Amino acid sequence: MVLNELGRGITSALASMANAMVIDEAALDECLKEICKALLQSDVNVKLVAAMRSNVKKRVNVEELAAGLNKRKIIEKAVFDEICAMLDGGGDGDEKKAAAKDGASGSYGVRKGKPHVVMFVGLQGSGKTTTCTKYAYWHKKKGWKPALVCADTFRAGAFDQLKQNATKAQIPFYGSYEETDPAVIAQQGVELFRREGRDLIIVDTSGRHKQEAALFEEMRQVAEAVKPDLAVFVMDGSIGQAAFDQAKAFKESVEVGAVIVTKLDGHAKGGGALSAVAATKSPVIFYGTGRGHQEVFMLLEAYKHYAKYA
Ligand code: GDP
Repeated sequence: MVLNELGRGITSALASMANAMVIDEAALDECLKEICKALLQSDVNVKLVAAMRSNVKKRVNVEELAAGLNKRKIIEKAVFDEICAMLDGGGDGDEKKAAAKDGASGSYGVRKGKPHVVMFVGLQGSGKTTTCTKYAYWHKKKGWKPALVCADTFRAGAFDQLKQNATKAQIPFYGSYEETDPAVIAQQGVELFRREGRDLIIVDTSGRHKQEAALFEEMRQVAEAVKPDLAVFVMDGSIGQAAFDQAKAFKESVEVGAVIVTKLDGHAKGGGALSAVAATKSPVIFYGTGRGHQEVFMLLEAYKHYAKYA
């Protein structure tokens, strides 16, 4: 699994520094070189890697650290914080993003207390429909009352797929075989579930085959119709650097506030996700590791776990 490999690479770089006789500028440079190598091998964008390296260098001035301080711990913490910051996407104090990052409230992406509408966007095949159900199921287990709306009228079979997934996970769903306007279906579904007192209404959208003007216009219309509290960009973990352009294009039509990376159970290196984080300035909140509705994890939590060299 990619996170393990990346975690191992970083761990071994830090360990080799710890074994150095003296921790000086040269030892720090050598350690950062190894960490950068591990990040690049995991498909993390070179600019992000360079930024991480220079941020750590700015934070830690080895020569100036007083004798007696544990230099290794200070460097480890700086590296850990910078990598977590890459996964967090910075954010700008915006309430939606704050909610997306807030794991303490028992959720990732939304906060309890009022009905929420979460819209999922992403290209066809990225794993959006599967991820909608996982997201719903994860929250259901935490005591939320989720519901799923299929606003994909483009792909034949989209509604059947969502219906099947939702039925397996025992989550109410809404869709239509007749209505062709996705914005109308989305609005009807959201209204219905609001009336029924559902507190997490998840809207799955169309992805088409590639980025095209019609898709982004459709996303704008659906967002206008349902006014989502959060828009989640779903990306296939194997797309690598293409994640930046994809995420940026979606962000231009919908205010993306979080990223979910799928298919990390395969050979995907997953580091491209950090490009999506950079493009949307939004945190990665979950990653998918399988086709079933239970196979979803919180990336940040997992990463913190590995980064702590457990
Ligand atoms: P959508 O077109 O974006 O809605 O994508 P789907 O949800 O239909 O997923 C496309 C394919 O990827 C399906 O065959 C899913 O079973 C599969 N898939 C989705 N998420 C994952 C994942 O995390 N791991 C694996 N191995 N397959 C996944």
